Amino acid sequence: MIQPEADPWGFEEEPVETLADILQPQIPDLAMLVIFLLLAYVSFRRKSVPLKYAVLVLAVAYMGFWKSTLISITDVFRVVDRDFPIFQSTLLWYGFAGFTLLSTVLWGRFYCGRVCAFGALTQLMDAVLPAKWRVDVPRPIEAKAAWIKFGLLAAVLVYYIATHDLLVYQYVEPFWMFTRVGTTPMWIAVGTLLVASMFVRNLYCRFLCPVGATLGILSNLTVFRIKRWSECSTCKICQKTCQFGAIEGPKILVSECVRCDDCERMYADEQKCPHWRILDFKAKKAARVMPLTPVS
Ligand code: SF4
Ligand code: SF4
Repeated sequence: MIQPEADPWGFEEEPVETLADILQPQIPDLAMLVIFLLLAYVSFRRKSVPLKYAVLVLAVAYMGFWKSTLISITDVFRVVDRDFPIFQSTLLWYGFAGFTLLSTVLWGRFYCGRVCAFGALTQLMDAVLPAKWRVDVPRPIEAKAAWIKFGLLAAVLVYYIATHDLLVYQYVEPFWMFTRVGTTPMWIAVGTLLVASMFVRNLYCRFLCPVGATLGILSNLTVFRIKRWSECSTCKICQKTCQFGAIEGPKILVSECVRCDDCERMYADEQKCPHWRILDFKAKKAARVMPLTPVS
């Protein structure tokens, strides 16, 4: 005799997923993200070169090749569409995007300077490749070329609003390379970009990246800006040091500065920065002209 199935119509209740079930699998990734961001912050606060390069290596290896977690133009599309993922299921995205926004408002393009895997990759390339390979883009061309990324951002946003074609991201950013999935023309394009970056420092970040442009616009809100000495209007030493073309005489261009610390370390260096020598000279001169106090 055939026994009837216990629940032939499938009316038995599905097990309900609890909040703990949703949150638990996200904990390891969240913990790693917090550790990475803390390390990036500590390297920034201490202006430590070894720590900064350790963070850049981690950004490429962990955030890039392992987790493929980068802020993308598709995240800007989300904001345009006001289409955000479910909060409790995507805590990593909210934590990462929230940190990027907050750090940009506090310090400027901190994200570009140490967190973005692609930016970290080109900064590391710049550090290991011979300096004699570098082609210095003349300042007037550099200043104009920096606007390309803002034009690209505007064009891509207009195109997306008109078509809602998400796939446009692959034509304007190379971040997909960290997933190792791309067509032959895409790999040729990214290869060309990386070869060009061997000669023109941080080429993509300086001139082409729409995410960098978005963060550059937001950077105008920066609360804690880099201080300049009064001597900076005539001395051009750190202007030449800045690999992002973000120093123009006495001004720091907040939309271009990625808070890499190079100039800040220069300011603090009493041997290299003329500010300290001028101060020293003024102090000695003042001591020479100071009338002697009569001894009673
Ligand atoms: S400019 Fe773009 S690629 Fe460069 S660090 Fe910023 S987000 Fe990354
Ligand atoms: S050198 Fe200074 S101005 Fe240039 S990107 Fe680095 S922190 Fe910004």
